[in-house]
Parts: sequence; structure tokens; C-alpha cells
Amino acid sequence: MSYDVIVLGLGAMGSAAAYHLAARGVRVLGIEQFMPAHDHGSSHGGSRIIRQAYFESADYIPLVLRAYELWRKLERDAGARLLHVTGGMTLGSRHGELVRRTMAAAREHAIPFEVLEGAEIAERFPAVRPLTGDVAVVEPHAGYLLPEECIRAHLKMAERAGAELHFEERAIAWSGAGHGVEVRTSRGTYSAGHLVIAAGPWAESELAGVFPLRVTRQVMAWIQPRGGVTDFVPERFPVWLAEDPEGGAVTYGFPAIDGEGGGVKAAIHGSDVVCTPETIDREIHAADLKRIVERVKVRMPALDGEVLRAKTCMYTKTPDENFVIGSHPHVPNCTVACGFSGHGFKFSSVVGEVLADLAVRGKTDLPVGIFDPERFEGRD
Ligand SMILES: Cc1cc2nc3c(=O)[nH]c(=O)nc-3n(C[C@H](O)[C@H](O)[C@H](O)COP(=O)(O)OP(=O)(O)OC[C@H]3O[C@@H](n4cnc5c(N)ncnc54)[C@H](O)[C@@H]3O)c2cc1C
Repeated sequence: MSYDVIVLGLGAMGSAAAYHLAARGVRVLGIEQFMPAHDHGSSHGGSRIIRQAYFESADYIPLVLRAYELWRKLERDAGARLLHVTGGMTLGSRHGELVRRTMAAAREHAIPFEVLEGAEIAERFPAVRPLTGDVAVVEPHAGYLLPEECIRAHLKMAERAGAELHFEERAIAWSGAGHGVEVRTSRGTYSAGHLVIAAGPWAESELAGVFPLRVTRQVMAWIQPRGGVTDFVPERFPVWLAEDPEGGAVTYGFPAIDGEGGGVKAAIHGSDVVCTPETIDREIHAADLKRIVERVKVRMPALDGEVLRAKTCMYTKTPDENFVIGSHPHVPNCTVACGFSGHGFKFSSVVGEVLADLAVRGKTDLPVGIFDPERFEGRD
């Protein structure tokens, strides 16, 4: 069988790429080793933060604004509610990196925000007990996405537009072949004019180590607040990020989106436990939970409650923590999307559009220069 484009991996990025390609009338085959919206990779756990005042770099802001438009379009087309706006709060010292960079990025792109200080923070958000010197940068348009539902919606719309999607089929090998590509899987061999590789934490093996990627184990915990979820309902508690007073480490979390009994999800952004999708320790240990609770209860004392459940996930980091999106440096007719460094989900709608542009037109008008795959060439 021959296709115009094969998409390898139908997680966050691949499902979006399959949708945007099929919507342009391209003959697409999508190949996924597991079932739709599975929990073995990087895109599960019920919620992902989306925000506009992008402390990582203001370069991401035009993309996140386009991502919002595309999420709203996908909601309309698929008839699903995917993006919930709760507002967002970035907590920390006014002089800390997180707060300073958040405000600078917002100012650069005229993203609305307000700054609360001291007692004002607890007045607005009663679950929060700010530390001395804390400010809260509050942005109104932040919120959360439902990652599994987003992937399902992209897959549904891709199929509706004519994409052929294969699940529980593993790509074993791929190669550039003449003017196209060939992919061998657990079930057959397929050829296409172009290949998009969106393999998430499997990118290291799929791309034979071409990029300096580092996969790490992350733990998300759902904590039952002492005294119940009243102060954590979305009307009174936004998505949040907080910087440790000593600087550096960032914790984050969500309101009680599953109601009483569902807990409040919180986690630490980043960990140094390197793994692969094959070697990751998926078991949850008491020490994992203790690390999270100890950190989050500093500013949210009610989160010292019982941990109802917890789950591992993987980040795939690049050295500069910017994504890798563009042509494969050595293989013509192959576009890669990997290294989303623990902050990619919110962009997956627009990444799908970029990947479709690159696969079909060989270029995109969206600003993706900082994701250039060639930037690692010539490294040690
Ligand atoms: C705990 C945690 C919290 C996060 N929080 C946020 C957040 O709040 N906001 C945010 O924006 N981002 C967040 N992220 C990051 C974001 O979720 C990821 O950047 C994003 O989901 C990565 O998507 P992906 O498509 O690259 O990977 P995945 O969704 O994992 O997709 C890769 C797919 O490729 C398939 N695949 C791989 N190899 C093969 C093969 N050989 N054959 C067939 N199929 C294959 C896999 O099975 C998988 O389905 C978080 C991540 C984690 C882990």
C-alpha cells in the first residue's frame, strides 16, 4: 500500500498531524503501537496546563495563541469540550526567575495579567498561604486541557477526513527509499512520499540517537485536601505554578476538576531520574509521594492530605528545553517532532498544523525557528 504521508506515533503530536494532513486531502496512514490515548507515554493523566505568559521564552507566545484557536476549532468540529479556562497563577518571589520571566514574556506580547501581593493572594485564593515576599502573577486565559480527550478528538476528526489509522501495530524499521520512505511494522510494510516521526519518549530509539534527548521519569499525584475540596474548586482555585523560595525547582497543579473524592493533582516539574520507555520504574514509591506533598504543602497547607492515586509519565528533554520540529537532518522526506521537554501538550494542536505544513509544503509560516533540528549539529 502506498500513501502520501505516514505518521509514526499517534500520541499528542502525531494525532494532531494526522488530523491536519487528512483535512488537507492528503492520503495519511497513522501507525500507533498501543491503543488510542493510552497511558504508557507522555500524554495521560487527565489534565495539562495551557497558559499564555510563557516564562520559558516569549517566542512561544504566537504559537500558543494559535494553539488556542485550533483547540476551539477542534472542540466545535468534534463536539467535545477540551479546554477549560480557570485562570492561572504563578507564585514566587518577585525577584525569582519564574515570576520575572513570566511578567517579561507577558509584557512583550501584551498578554493580560495582574500581580497580587501578600494577603491579597489568600483573599482571592483561600487555599494559598503565601510565603513572605511572594507575589502571584494571575493570567485570566490560562486553564487546562483534557489530554486523552484531545487526542481522541484529533483521531476522530482525522478518520472522518479519511486518514487510515492502525493501532496496536509497532513500527520496527523505517528508511528513506528513492523519492519516499518505507516503514516496516509488526504487520506489514508500507511506503509513502513522506514520513512524520512523532514518537514521544520513543524518539531516541526511532531516530537512532540523532538528537541529544534525555527521557526522565515524572510522577503525578492526586491529593485529597484536608477539609475537602471547597477551596480547590475551579471557581476559587486556578491552575498554578510555584517556584521554591531557594529558586530553581517548580511545582505545579490543578484545581479539583473531578469534584469531591477525585483529589487535586499536583507534581514537581522535572526530575533527574533518567529512563527509557522500557526501563522506567512505573511503580509508585512512598518517597515519590513524600517529595511532592512536602513541596506543595509549603504554600497550600491543605495539600498535606492523603494521596489518592499517583502515576508515572515521561518527559523527553533537549539540552535547551526547546522542542525539535523540522526536517530530519540526514533523511529527505522525513519530518521530526520530538523533545517536547515537559511542556509540549498545550501546543499539540498547532504542532499538528506545523507538521502538515512541513510535510506538504516543505515550509511553514508559523514561527518555529527555535525548534530547528539542525541546532545540535556539530555538538560534542
Ligand atoms: C507528568 C507530565 C506533566 C505534563 N504537564 C504538561 C502541562 O501541564 N502542559 C503541557 O503543555 N505539557 C505538559 N507535559 C508535556 C506533554 O504532555 C508532552 O510534551 C506531550 O504530551 C508529548 O507528546 P508526544 O506526541 O511527543 O508524545 P506521546 O504522546 O507519548 O506520543 C508518542 C506516541 O508514539 C508512539 N510510538 C512510539 N514509537 C512507536 C513505534 N515504533 N511504533 C508505533 N508507535 C510508536 C507511542 O506509543 C506514543 O503513542 C507533561 C508531561 C508529563 C509527563
